[in-house]
Amino acid sequence: MAALRALRKSWFLWAFAAAATTVATFLISYASYEARELERAAARAALYRSTLVSALRQVQHLPQILASDPTIIGLAERSDVDALNRRFADIVAASDIDALYLMDTRGLTLAASNYATPQSFVGRNYVFRPYFRTALAGGRGEYYAVGATTKRPGYFIANALRDRKGVVLGVLAVKVDLHPLQAAWRAGGESVLVANGDGVIILSSDPAQIYRTLEPIAAARLGVIRAARQFLDQPLSRLAWRRTGANRWRMNGLDYLHAQVDIGRLGWRLHYLLDDSRAAQSAALTAIAGAIVFTALLLIAALWRSARLKRALSSSQQHRRALRRTNLALEQAQKELARATKMAALGQLAAAVTHELGQPISAMRNYLAAAEMTRDPGAQQAAIAHLTSIAQRMERITRQLKQFADPAPSRSDLVGLDEVVEGAKLLLAHDLAAGGVALRIESAPQRVHVQGDRTRLEQALVNLMRNAIAAMEESEDKHITLSIGVEGEWAILSVTDTGLGLGEKSLEELQEPFHTTQPSGKGMGLGLAITAAIMREHGGELSAYTTRGGGACFSLRIKQMCASTPGDAPIHEAAQ
Ligand code: ADP
Repeated sequence: MAALRALRKSWFLWAFAAAATTVATFLISYASYEARELERAAARAALYRSTLVSALRQVQHLPQILASDPTIIGLAERSDVDALNRRFADIVAASDIDALYLMDTRGLTLAASNYATPQSFVGRNYVFRPYFRTALAGGRGEYYAVGATTKRPGYFIANALRDRKGVVLGVLAVKVDLHPLQAAWRAGGESVLVANGDGVIILSSDPAQIYRTLEPIAAARLGVIRAARQFLDQPLSRLAWRRTGANRWRMNGLDYLHAQVDIGRLGWRLHYLLDDSRAAQSAALTAIAGAIVFTALLLIAALWRSARLKRALSSSQQHRRALRRTNLALEQAQKELARATKMAALGQLAAAVTHELGQPISAMRNYLAAAEMTRDPGAQQAAIAHLTSIAQRMERITRQLKQFADPAPSRSDLVGLDEVVEGAKLLLAHDLAAGGVALRIESAPQRVHVQGDRTRLEQALVNLMRNAIAAMEESEDKHITLSIGVEGEWAILSVTDTGLGLGEKSLEELQEPFHTTQPSGKGMGLGLAITAAIMREHGGELSAYTTRGGGACFSLRIKQMCASTPGDAPIHEAAQ
């Protein structure tokens, strides 16, 4: 479950990282594409500007040059209107200009290249046009306006025409149609527009934008524009656009990157608009490519990781198999060892039993042979007595073996240690007397009780006392001290003798089954083993040390039971 959760969590993290990378890639690449597109927009704007400027420049000096033409001056001096009309028509036919005309000093058109057309300027008065006034004052009049007669927009340039003495005869004006330029822009399919100093769009690749304003025009200024009939009756309504950033426009629900450049003439300004979706599309494509690369890398990493896990798993399985094989070998070795130990113990037992029973059996055979040979009833009687004692000895040996091999089931009673001492004393009264051993009993100030099997405890004590008697066989001083004591929660029953002591041997060695220093027939080396087993049954322990006097002290330690514990009926009775 935890692994699944961790996996799910890590997949969630990876998905989040992939999404974050995609978004970051989009933003970064968009910023870079946008910068590149803006550069492109600025370059395009500069290019459009140069086409417009060169178109204007071509005709810029034309009125001035024509005003110095002696033929035109001569015809004007003579007021030869027909000749002027024809001359103007010839010049227009040979050039790119739209119209060429001459006004008198009051603005009345005297002669025009289009004299023969229905929209002839001849007879029309253009005194309201600012270019007329500028030219009359001696300057170069420049103006962009919708033609009052033709209703077609155009760029007007005017210069004063003087006679040979320098007296102003009138104003010579040229009208240039910028429509072909605009048509070329439109054909290019790009968004470009030119606004005049008032913010009125005068040229645009989108015809619908012409005569719309970029900013609202103040009422006073609007009055001037109307008076000059610059755009005739055009409503000059505002173009629906708004700035959405330093270089961004939003128009007709579309986002554009915006670049602008001054034309450097008449306060004109060229605006170039580039559809923003190109940058967004390129950025989206880059982001998608980035996401694909990221996912591919992720998959490769996941595959690599799973391959590594598989390798680790298979190596751990190999280790486990090797471990299992080692364990099996170890188990086998343990079984072998147990079997060998059992065989060794069996061998030891067989040797001990053979050794112990061998001697009485050969003694029995001797007594039986002697009894067969004699007819003396006294001797036969003595042989029977010997045989009986040998049988008793053999019985003792087998009883000890039985006790070791199959101990009687334990009881659990409240037992007073003084009772145990009394019992053992009775059982060994004969042996003590026969060995000439004096027994001293040191009782505790109050009775000490333990929980256990009285007979088994007596047996343990008897074993220790028998060993003590045996150990003192050679001693001159033969004393056994039985003491009952208490150490914290422990009851201690110790047997101290004046025998040989333990020598170099440890208790562990002495209590090994069949370890004995007793002569054959006297001990089988099972006494201490049985005693230690009885202590273990009682949750206690056997300990031993050599006393200062050189004898041995063996102690039985068992948990003390408090006889006066309320509610413990048998203990209570025993205390009474
Ligand atoms: P056994 O008495 O049949 O030899 P035990 O297991 O009772 O078997 O004792 C093992 C050995 O421990 C004895 O043969 C003896 O060497 C040593 N031993 C036991 N008790 C004493 C003692 N009180 N003093 C000295 N040696 C002892």
